[in-house]
Amino acid sequence: MRGRIAAVLLGVCLLCTSCQATPTPATREFTALDTLCSVKIYDGQDALLDKAVGTVTEYEALWSRTMENSDIARMNAADGEAVTIDENTAELLEQAIAWSNATDGAFDITVAPCKELWEAATDVPTDEALAAAKARVGIDKLKTAPWRLTDGAQLDLGAIAKGAIADKVCERLLANGCTSALIDLGGNITAFGRKPDGSPFRVAIADPLDPSRTVLTVEAADVTLSTSGSYNRYYELDGVRYSHILDPSTGRPVDNDLRAVTVIARRGADADALSTACLVMGFDRAWAFLQTLDGIEAIFVKTDGAVITTDGVVTV
Ligand code: ADP
Ligand code: MG
Repeated sequence: MRGRIAAVLLGVCLLCTSCQATPTPATREFTALDTLCSVKIYDGQDALLDKAVGTVTEYEALWSRTMENSDIARMNAADGEAVTIDENTAELLEQAIAWSNATDGAFDITVAPCKELWEAATDVPTDEALAAAKARVGIDKLKTAPWRLTDGAQLDLGAIAKGAIADKVCERLLANGCTSALIDLGGNITAFGRKPDGSPFRVAIADPLDPSRTVLTVEAADVTLSTSGSYNRYYELDGVRYSHILDPSTGRPVDNDLRAVTVIARRGADADALSTACLVMGFDRAWAFLQTLDGIEAIFVKTDGAVITTDGVVTV
């Protein structure tokens, strides 16, 4: 059977709950970043919905791999030549390089050639095909001064852009005096500020196997919760599902003891990059890695069904 990418968005979607006292927010639901998005503004500044959605589309146009004139598409098409990019793109690429190095390559925005191989496959790729794709992968192939790609490398910001764009929406809301909002970019949930009564937002983490069930509910204020799951988006070859998240060290879809990881961080870009990285690492390596970081919390759902949280996760 031809490989295809399928999405079961609810598989790891985060459900936002609110207590009875919370006023009904001004809400906008829209499609962007290849997924379903929403912004909810709780402090009456309804006019900011347009600005929030505008910020998402503005940065999608800069960071999408498929939009022809995006900074990323221009770098991918430049055939090794230097490319002038927006300073915001440069800043995000610097962050992505830093996380790639800190995670020993578990997070790697150059994994695109392997992703393309799995996306286009009609059969499980051969070792030769994988080796050829892997030869084009490696963060050292992204050069910073000037910005350019070497050795056939290609960029894909799919594992960090949603979190980074949420950060940009927050900056915009803050600059316009907003104090209370929830932003959902395809299951990356950002609690901007607190509810109008001063209490934290409550975010329910869905069971990746049965999205109608909640594994636990957490308190969230001024953080992003980003979830990566093995089976929420997948390639299907001959009836077998392969994760859309790849282990850059093998070029193969992740298949380990984790079903989903939610990372909670003040900066959305960090939450997004680290949820992907932790899923690639598997539980033991991810747990040890998180001990080395400050201000990052995580909720792991293992394939055996166990739910394990780091110490700072406040459950309701
Ligand atoms: P989602 O896009 O479902 O929110 P992630 O944030 O984990 O999930 O991002 C997954 C996407 O990132 C993949 O579709 C692919 O484009 C890209 N990707 C896959 N594996 C990696 C990896 N190891 N490091 C960085 N990006 C990756
Ligand atoms: Mg991610």
